[in-house]
Amino acid sequence: MRALQMVGEGRLEMDEIAVPEVREGWALLRTVASAAGLFHTQMVKGMLDTGGLPRILGHEIIGEIVEAGSPASPPPGTLVVSDAVVGCGVCEWCIRGEDSICPWMHHLGIDLDGGFAEYVLAPEANIFPLPPDINVQEAVMLSSAVPATVHAVSKVGVDAGMRVAVSGVGSIGFAVCQVAKAFGATTIVAADVSDAQLEAVAPWVDATINVGDMTPAEADSAMREAGGVPHGFDVGFETAGQASSVDTTIKVLRPGGSAMMMGIVDGRTAINFESYLAEFVRREVSFVTTFGFTRKDFLIGNALYLGGRLDVSPLVGPTVTLDEVPATLDYIVEHGTGGKRYVVDVGMA
Ligand SMILES: [Zn+2]
Repeated sequence: MRALQMVGEGRLEMDEIAVPEVREGWALLRTVASAAGLFHTQMVKGMLDTGGLPRILGHEIIGEIVEAGSPASPPPGTLVVSDAVVGCGVCEWCIRGEDSICPWMHHLGIDLDGGFAEYVLAPEANIFPLPPDINVQEAVMLSSAVPATVHAVSKVGVDAGMRVAVSGVGSIGFAVCQVAKAFGATTIVAADVSDAQLEAVAPWVDATINVGDMTPAEADSAMREAGGVPHGFDVGFETAGQASSVDTTIKVLRPGGSAMMMGIVDGRTAINFESYLAEFVRREVSFVTTFGFTRKDFLIGNALYLGGRLDVSPLVGPTVTLDEVPATLDYIVEHGTGGKRYVVDVGMA
């Protein structure tokens, strides 16, 4: 099979290698599509442990079953999306269904071979059947962007009737607004510094605010007013990864509210241990973090998408071939992704 392998730091190589042999508990998939994004540029730079080289990257996997042994597995030929998280299955976290934080976790496309090849092995427990006529480019979003969002929305406890503030509506914030609505949020206010992004998310939320020239305190007041929630929001999502966005997200909470921190902030925020008593303890607000997703999040995300509750089309970027992946990653390093996932056509035809 043709496989795009990482063979060293900064080095991807197209090789002809043997199709992997099926092991017990694992299914052999013919890869249909994968995705390329900022994460892969970091992988290629050597920022994550690949568990040895060469390694086939590509953690987002849409495939067709070639062979699977379990009677519960869908039959050969079934189109599936694979969860890339491979928990040990034995530890207390895996038993609780928290496989995304299993200390012995492996990951397809990171330290196990992934979807940048014509065939890939995936645990049978990780594959979810999809309708054969599904839009494959959109289905790629079900392999990471959607379950990651479901995980965050469900972990922070969004429920019927809740009032939600979303700071940052790039691809993740956009998905957060839709999933929060599907979980029953009745008031959603989105803030960003880009009018274009606010316009895209407008149909899914109750109000949008450009906070580009506001301090966190000003953004807080404007968001409370727009949402009609003078005492603050039940839940705030931070997805921008900016210090000012973190400050705003904490400020907009009602006493007893929860902040879900999805952005990776690199820098100092105004909220620190000196303001800890006033901002956190006195108002009894919670600070919740998220990493990855579980198989249950996959089930929920797929059901929401197939049930017409999510529009992932704005997240879909250009489609490239496997051969074009190295040049695409170079392009992403230079120009970013514009909040979209590049779809990698491995065997879509
Ligand atoms: Zn485990």
